[in-house]
Amino acid sequence: MDPISERIALNEGLFREVNENIRAAATDGRYDDAHFVCECGASNCEERVAMTLDAYCAVRDHKRHFFVKPGHEIPMAETVVERHDRYLVIEKPPEAEAVLEQGSTD
Ligand SMILES: [Zn+2]
Repeated sequence: MDPISERIALNEGLFREVNENIRAAATDGRYDDAHFVCECGASNCEERVAMTLDAYCAVRDHKRHFFVKPGHEIPMAETVVERHDRYLVIEKPPEAEAVLEQGSTD
């Protein structure tokens, strides 16, 4: 994988960790929805995506699926698999999986 795609995948893996903490907090408080961070590959993105916990968990069911604000997708590094009003679901290529799992150990 090229260095740019690797950097993008690494950022997305980190955002996923942040969102897992948000989900845990929302579940503890029994909220129906929460404001998750956009999981796009831009390390400086601070956009939030309001989603129900069910919608969030549906994305998380797939190891290589992430959600981003519309327009935040990076066509060279991922494929849009679902389009919703407030977010898009993207799928990472299989070769990104190892990088996505690295998380904060980088
Ligand atoms: Zn973003």
